[in-house]
Amino acid sequence: MLGWILGVIAVFLVFGYWHLPIIWWTLAGGLLAAYLSVIAGFGFAADIVLAVSFIIIAAILNFPILRRKIITDRVLAIYRRILPDMSQTEKEAIDAGTVWWDGDLFSGRPDWDKLLATPAPRLSAEEQAFLDGPVEELCAMCDDWEITHERYDLPPRVWQFIKDKGFLGMIIPKKHGGMGFSALAHSAVVTKLSSRSNAAAVTVMVPNSLGPAELLLHYGTDAQKNHYLPRLAKGLEIPCFALTSPEAGSDAASIPDYGVVCKGIWQGKETLGMRVTWDKRYITLGPVATLLGLAFRLYDPEHLLGSKEDLGITCALVPTNTAGVNIGRRHLPLNGVFQNGPNSGKDVFMPIDWIIGGPEYAGKGWMMLMNCLAAGRSISLPASSVGGAQALARATGAYARVRQQFRTPIGKLEGVEEALGRIAANTYMMEATRIMTAGCVDAGEKPSVLSAIAKYHMTERARQCVNDSMDIHGGKGICLGPNNWVGRGYQVLPVGITVEGANILTRTLIIFGQGAIRCHPYVLREMRAAKEMAGEAAAIEFDDAFTSHIGHAISNGVRAFVHGITSSRLAHVPREGAPETLHYYRFTSRMSAAFAFLADVSMMAMGGALKRKEKISGRLGDVLSMMYLVSAMLKHYEDQGRIREDLPLIRWAARDAFYHAQQAIDQVLSNFPIKSLATLLRWTIFPLGTPFRPPLDSRNQECARLVLEPGAARDRLTSSVFISKSEKDATGVLEAAFLATVACEPLDKKLRDAVRSGKLETRPGVDTAAVAHQLGILNSEELQKWQRKEALRRNVIKVDDFPQDFGRAEILQKLSSETVKAKAA
Ligand SMILES: Cc1cc2nc3c(=O)[nH]c(=O)nc-3n(C[C@H](O)[C@H](O)[C@H](O)COP(=O)(O)OP(=O)(O)OC[C@H]3O[C@@H](n4cnc5c(N)ncnc54)[C@H](O)[C@@H]3O)c2cc1C
Repeated sequence: MLGWILGVIAVFLVFGYWHLPIIWWTLAGGLLAAYLSVIAGFGFAADIVLAVSFIIIAAILNFPILRRKIITDRVLAIYRRILPDMSQTEKEAIDAGTVWWDGDLFSGRPDWDKLLATPAPRLSAEEQAFLDGPVEELCAMCDDWEITHERYDLPPRVWQFIKDKGFLGMIIPKKHGGMGFSALAHSAVVTKLSSRSNAAAVTVMVPNSLGPAELLLHYGTDAQKNHYLPRLAKGLEIPCFALTSPEAGSDAASIPDYGVVCKGIWQGKETLGMRVTWDKRYITLGPVATLLGLAFRLYDPEHLLGSKEDLGITCALVPTNTAGVNIGRRHLPLNGVFQNGPNSGKDVFMPIDWIIGGPEYAGKGWMMLMNCLAAGRSISLPASSVGGAQALARATGAYARVRQQFRTPIGKLEGVEEALGRIAANTYMMEATRIMTAGCVDAGEKPSVLSAIAKYHMTERARQCVNDSMDIHGGKGICLGPNNWVGRGYQVLPVGITVEGANILTRTLIIFGQGAIRCHPYVLREMRAAKEMAGEAAAIEFDDAFTSHIGHAISNGVRAFVHGITSSRLAHVPREGAPETLHYYRFTSRMSAAFAFLADVSMMAMGGALKRKEKISGRLGDVLSMMYLVSAMLKHYEDQGRIREDLPLIRWAARDAFYHAQQAIDQVLSNFPIKSLATLLRWTIFPLGTPFRPPLDSRNQECARLVLEPGAARDRLTSSVFISKSEKDATGVLEAAFLATVACEPLDKKLRDAVRSGKLETRPGVDTAAVAHQLGILNSEELQKWQRKEALRRNVIKVDDFPQDFGRAEILQKLSSETVKAKAA
C-alpha cells in the first residue's frame, strides 16, 4: 500500500512537472480506481458506484460541453460578479504595448534557447560614427559647471550644435529628414551624453521620447507629418509634451484640462475648432518650446463632431506663439537646469485639425499615449542611469586608487571596497539591461512591463551607485564646484526617479499589476471572456482559458516543489549556454516556476483586492524584475563572447538578485492574508528552506578590483561613456592621475623600502622624492614621473572654494557682455 501511495505521489509529480494533458490524468485515475477495486475487494455494488463515479468525473473533465455546464459556466458567473469593472483608461493602459521575455518569465518555464537565439543588438556603422563623432564633440563642448552654476542653461553654441547635428531627430525616419536611428543607437547617445551633462542628455532625450515626433510618426495625418517632422528633425521646432497638471500627477488620466468643440474665427475665416483651457506643470523643454504637445479632455456639447459628448483625452499640437498660450517660466528641479516649467491657456481657440491624427483621433489620446509610452520608457531613463553609473564606476574607482588614507589607497580598505564592488556589479547589470531592452524595441516590441522594470530598477540602481560614490568621495563629493564630478549627479538623480511615472507607483502598481494581466498566459483571456464577450463564445473561451490556467498553476506548483527538493538540478537551461553560468539559468527557471505559482495563488486568494494590496504586488513585481535583470546579464555575457574576466560582476549581481527575489517571496508569504495557504505555499516553494544567500565578500572584492585597475575589464565596464582626455578638465585630470598613480606604485614601494631601511627620512615640509633623488634612490626620470603624479594627485584631491558671492557678480558681468555682443552681431 505504501508503495502505491508513493507511486501515486510520483505520478502526480511527474504528470504535474511535465504539464501532461487531462487525458493522462484520467487514465492514471482509472488505473488507480481499478487497482483499489481489485485489492480492496469492495464488492460488486461498491465497484459499480466507483466505476460510475469515475466515468462521470472523467466525462466532466474531458468533454468541454459537460465541463462548461457543470463547472466553468458557474465559475464564469462568479468571476463576472467579482471582477471589478475597468475604466476605459485602465483598459487602454492594460492593452497597450506587447509582451516579450516577460511572458516567458511568467510562464514558469522560460525558453532560454529562444532568448539566446535572438541576435545580439549591434549599432550600424553610421550610428557608431555618430557616437564617435558628433556625440563625442558635444560631450567635449559641455562644461557642466558652466551649465549648472553659471548659465542655468546650455550655452547657445551647444544648443545650436544639438539642432544642427540632428540630435533632436534621432527617431525621425530619414525620409522626413531625421536620423532614422535604432533604439539601441538612441540609447547609446543618451548614455554617453548623460555621463557628461544631465542638461544636454535631457534636452536630447525628450524630443526623441514620448512627445510630438513619436505621436506624429504613429498617428499624425500626412499633412502634419510633412509639415512638422522635417522641422523637428532639423531643430527648427523645439517640442515638448504636456500631460501633467497640478491636480493630476501620477493619476494622469484624471487631467482637469479641457477643450470644447466649437466654431470660431481663425485667420479671418469661420473654422471648426476647440476652445482649450489648461494648466500644466513640470513640462520638460516647455519654457523654450515652439511646439506644445497638449493633452486635454475634449467635449462636444453641440455634437459638431458626432453623437458623443465626452470624447475623452485628446492630444493636439499647439504652436507656442498662438495667442493665449502662456509659456516660458521655469522650475528648478534640484539644480538640473534642463528647461522645465509650467504652461497654461484659457479658452484658447485652435482649429480642429491641430488634433494629432485629425478629428478622427479626438478622444483617442490616452490610447495613443499608452501605446507610445513603452519605447521611450525603454530608452531614456535606463540609458541616462547607465551613463551616470558607468561614469561613477570609472571615476570612483580612479579616485579610490588615487586618494590615500592610512597610507593605503582608500579603495583597498574593506569598507570602501564593499561600496565600490557594488557600484561595479550594478553597473554591469544595468548595461546588460539597457542593451537587452533597447534590442527588444528594435525587434519591433513595445514592452510595456519590461520598460517599467528597466525604468524602475535602473534609476534605483543608479541611486544606489551615486549614494555609494558619494560615500567614497567623502567631502570631495559634498563640496560643489567645477572639480566635483559626483555631486550634481547625486542632486539630480531623484528627477529620473520621479519622471515617467514616479517610482513607487511604477513598482507597486505597474510592474506586477500590468504584468499579471498582460504577461500571464491565461488571465487576460479569462477577463476578456468575462467582460467583453457574451453567450456561447464567452463560455467556450472562458472554459478553455480557465482549465488551462488550473493546469498551468498545478504544473508550476509541482515544478517549484521539485526544483526545491532537487536544488534546481532538473530546472531548464539553454542547450548552448556557457557552462560557467548554467546554474544561474537553473535558478532563474526555478524562480520562474515559484513566481508563477505564487502569482496564481495570490490572484486566486486575493482577487481584485490584490490591486489595492500594493505592498504584496510590489514584492511580486520585484521577483519578476530580478529574473529579468539576471536574464539580461546572462544574454549580455553570451553576446559579448563569454568574457571570463567579467564573471565576478555577474556572480555578484546574480546572487544579489536571487537573494532579493527570495526575500521578496518570503515577505509576500509572511504577509499573506490566509495563513494556512501561506504555510502550504512555503512548503511548496521552499521545501528545504530558503536557498539563496547574499553575495560573498570575496566576489565583492573581485568586482572592486576591476575598477581599481586600469585595463580591458574597466574599459569594457565603462565603454559607453565619454572619457575626457583633457587635463584641463576635472575627469580628465582624474583619469591621468589614476594612470600615473598606478604607474608610480613601484616607485612608492621603493621610497617606502628606503624609509623602512633607514636610508631615507621623511620630514614635514621636505620633498621626500627630491631627497631620494639626491641620495640616488630615484633617478631623474623616476623623479619626474613621481612629481607629475604628485601634481596630478594634488589636483584631484583639491575641492573648490569661492568668494562670498560664489562668483555671481563676475558671472553676471560675463553673461551680460555676451548678450550685448550677441545683440550687436
Ligand atoms: C523634472 C520633471 C520633469 C517632468 N517632465 C514632464 C513632461 O515633460 N511632461 C509631462 O506631462 N509630465 C512631466 N513630468 C511629470 C512626471 O512624469 C510624473 O508623472 C509626475 O511628476 C508625477 O506626479 P507628481 O509629481 O505630482 O506626484 P504625485 O502624483 O503627487 O505622487 C506622489 C507620490 O505618490 C505615489 N503614488 C501616486 N499614486 C500612487 C498609487 N496609486 N500607488 C502607489 N503610489 C502612488 C507616487 O509614486 C509618488 O511617490 C515631469 C516631472 C518632473 C518632476
